[in-house]
Amino acid sequence: MLEERVAQVQERVNAACRRGGRNAEDVRIVAVTKYVDLAAAEAALAAGLHHLAENRWQNAREKWEAIQDRAVWHFIGHLQTNKVKDVVGRFPYIHSVDRLALAEEISRRAAERDVEVRIFLQVNVSGEESKYGMEPDELLPLVQAIRGLPGLIVEGLMTMAPYEAEPEETRPVFRRLRELKDSINEAGILSYPVKGLSMGMSNDFEVAIEEGATLVRLGSVLLPSQP
Ligand SMILES: *Cc1c(COP(=O)(O)O)cnc(C)c1O
Repeated sequence: MLEERVAQVQERVNAACRRGGRNAEDVRIVAVTKYVDLAAAEAALAAGLHHLAENRWQNAREKWEAIQDRAVWHFIGHLQTNKVKDVVGRFPYIHSVDRLALAEEISRRAAERDVEVRIFLQVNVSGEESKYGMEPDELLPLVQAIRGLPGLIVEGLMTMAPYEAEPEETRPVFRRLRELKDSINEAGILSYPVKGLSMGMSNDFEVAIEEGATLVRLGSVLLPSQP
């Protein structure tokens, strides 16, 4: 049942890769387990989904403590500075970095614990007021400011598109995030290329992949919440 669902989603990923001229190996599925319990997260692992994402430490805790490093953990929720201590050392990827104070705190905790954290800078491309993330104009100054902070690797950019009944309408949001990523590399601020684009959710992942997503965060399409 879950295996079938995973195979169907993988087939949709593959088809989107073909349409976008991409290699399927360059697109990682991250399974968002925030809606489901430990048993379902274990089932996801058994079905071959090794990257798991959560948006709150409180909800993740039981699952994280049972699974630990049998999965690669991604933190995708809005993060308050005083909660960073719960996340660094447990989640090697943080997708929601949207301000300097947060990056500095992640760096401080990473140095303290002698770990590296791969971060995605979250941009509110659509400008929806309900969405977290920095304004596009704030991106290059932020990259400049965090350059050289120990323990941080800028893995890429992250965005959430507005929910659209017609997923095609999300395309400009994803295209813009890719252009913003290119602008970081063109500006030559970092000593390494920024390659990651964390974009696409259950409703719109195929469009996001066509536009260059390297990582799609999939919840309901893979792991529907239990009754
Ligand atoms: C919940 C969540 C997802 C997954 O959402 P689905 O629509 O269920 O795929 C992806 N990204 C973030 C940041 C989320 O909070």
